Order: sequence, then structure tokens, then C-alpha cells
Amino acid sequence: MSTREVRPTDQAPEGATHPNAKPVLSFTARRRGKAPRHLVDLDLAERKEAVAAVGIPAFRADQLSRHYFEHMLGDTAQMTDLPASLRPKLGEELFPKLLTEITAQHADKGQTIKTLWELFDGARVESVLMRYPHRTTLCLSSQAGCGMACPFCATGQMGLTRNLSTGEMVEQVRVARLACARGDIGDGPTHLTNVVFMGMGEPLANWRHLVGTLHRLVRDVPEGFGMSARNITVSTVGLVPAIDKLSGLGIPVTLAVSLHAPDDDLRDDLIPINSRWKVGELLDAARRYFMATGRRVSIEYALIRDMNDQPWRAQLLADELNKRGRTWAHVNPIPLNPTPGSIWTASTQSAQDEFVDTLRRAGISTTIRDTRGSDIDGACGQLATAVEKVSSSRKKRPVPVHIERRSENE
Ligand code: SF4
Repeated sequence: MSTREVRPTDQAPEGATHPNAKPVLSFTARRRGKAPRHLVDLDLAERKEAVAAVGIPAFRADQLSRHYFEHMLGDTAQMTDLPASLRPKLGEELFPKLLTEITAQHADKGQTIKTLWELFDGARVESVLMRYPHRTTLCLSSQAGCGMACPFCATGQMGLTRNLSTGEMVEQVRVARLACARGDIGDGPTHLTNVVFMGMGEPLANWRHLVGTLHRLVRDVPEGFGMSARNITVSTVGLVPAIDKLSGLGIPVTLAVSLHAPDDDLRDDLIPINSRWKVGELLDAARRYFMATGRRVSIEYALIRDMNDQPWRAQLLADELNKRGRTWAHVNPIPLNPTPGSIWTASTQSAQDEFVDTLRRAGISTTIRDTRGSDIDGACGQLATAVEKVSSSRKKRPVPVHIERRSENE
């Protein structure tokens, strides 16, 4: 077994101007512009007020909401049971175009579609739709850019452009549901069953709009799509106070913690937010989340060769989880793409096996994650952890790794 140990700081961040550059955390958006108001930014009572404010009977709010959440219509021109004279006005006031498709790339034999969207102000985000035999999952973006500055992540090097509005996130879901219903992904029509907040951005840093989005996802028609909270996953690199707020929200989504290291020494460099909230504080908050919601917490762990994949770290991770209780967390080790010459490269198969065996021997439920979309270009996410070295001229490019848990029957 190799005794080499590489550090995240061995290579400067993507786009750095000098070799000793370090990523910098930022919580302030560079752009302050707000996305145009959309019907789904509002709750049902506010929708009624908004409809009445343009001189249209309030009951139309319910009708508009049903068109949106039940029939996935985003354009009043298609709402043919509305009086034709009202459609343009309602469209203008409550259905602005929030997402414009720039490109859509297909992978995994048509079972994965990654879409690049342009927002009203030119900012760009991505969402990825993945079909599996027994579920279809959307990975959506919660921010344009990200302020968490993880050195392995291309979005982190962009900094935070701005938070997405509730409408911009919900629209990613509506369009995905429509694509499923039309049979645009895989073989024939299907339903969108799962939503994971693992695209661009740190969702808990966009708290207000995250909450609005979760309400629209889980509430029944006409308030929302009526999805099960069990099928929604919110991922975080470790904003501890926001995890506690999520515990008290009353929407028991799955919490995924992007841990990637069980010791502060390494995690301080790998996940810069660890300088604010240490591993112990983060796992305590994750445990509190489990106690409050009954939902088992997912611990995401990208296995990076010679960096975090040593058996002693697997044991330390198991000890940290076990000392807080049994069966409250599930570990998902994530294999990276092999990228020769980069410090962000795949663990060897034997290191991966030993890591997983160590966890399982210690009684930790562990599932190696499947990756999707690894042959399509660009992307980010909580777990987009591989960096491909394109040339020796320091030009680096992120390789997308969209992650889904591999179930026994797949
Ligand atoms: S990995 Fe996630 S939290 Fe870290 S910089 Fe990238 S998008 Fe932000």
C-alpha cells in the first residue's frame, strides 16, 4: 500500500493567478438583481392577491396553479380554458421566462440529460436529469456559481454570482417533470420521482429560496407538485446553523453531508467552510437532524487517491459516526474518474475496497455510488469532484460526476 499522502493545496485552484493561491470563502453575491416575479415565487394566498391586483378574479389563481403544477404548463398561451383575452396579461405578470435552454447533452444511452440554462441576467446554471429502472432523478442548481470555494470544484472557483430565486429552482423541476411525461429521457414516458439539490451552489446558503422551493415540491396541487419529502435530498458542505434550521422545518428531506474527510487537518484544506464549523460540530448537527426527522443522514465521501482514502481515515470516520449512535448515517463513497497527473484522481480499486471493508467491519452501512454523466462536458455540484488535466499549460477542466446511489437492483 502506498504511504504517499497528497494535500489539496498541492495545486493552486482553477483560474488562480499565482501558484500559492488559496480558495476564498464568500457569502456575498456579486449580482444583486432579482429574477422577475413568477407565480411559483408566491404561496397560494399571494397568488390570489397577485391575480386580483391585475383585475382578474382571484379564483383564477387556483386554475393557473393547477395548470402549472398538475399539467406542467409554463406558458399561458397553452392554458386554453382561460379566456383568450386574459392570457397575455397573466403571462406578462406571472409567467416570465426564467430559463432559456442553451445546450442539452445526452449521455448514458439517453438515460441522462444535462441541460445548460441561461437566466434572465445572463447567469448560467445546469441541471441533470437521470433515469434509472425504478426512479428518475433531477439534480438541480440552487445558486449561480458558489461561494464555498472547494478547491476540487470548478464552480467553487467561479465564486458566487447570485442566489437562484424560488421560481428559478421550481422551473428546473417543472421542465424536468414535463420532459419525463413526454418521454424525452430513456424509453418512453416516466415520472420524476426524486429531486437532489446537488447541482451548482450550496443550497443551505440560499436558505429563503430553498425553503420556498421545498414547499412547492412537497405541497399538494394546487400549492405544489405533491412530491414526497423522502424523495428529496438537500446536500451541504456543512453550514451547521442552517442544518439545525432544516431540522425544524417540518419537511423531512434526506440530508446529505459532503464530508470527504473525517479529520479537521485535511478537511480544513479540502472544504474551506470547515474553518468555521469543524467535523465534530458538523456531525453533531447531522445527528441532531436524524433525531429531529428520523431520516438517516447520507455521508458523501469522494475517494481521492492518497489524499483521503487511507484505512485509518475509514476507521476514524466509522469511530466518529459510531460514537454518536448506530444506524443514523449511511456512507456513500464516491469513485472519481482516473485523471493521471492530477492530485484529484481515483483511488486504486484495492484502496477503495479496503476503505469500504473497514467501514462495514465497523458496522457502518456503506454503498458505493454510481456516477452519471461522466462522458458529458462541464458541470458542477456538491460531488463534482474530479478535475481533468487537459494540457501541461495549467489549463484544467472539470469533469462532471453526477452521483446517484446504486441500488441493489440496478
Ligand atoms: S463542491 Fe459544492 S459547495 Fe463546494 S464549491 Fe462546488 S458547488 Fe460549492
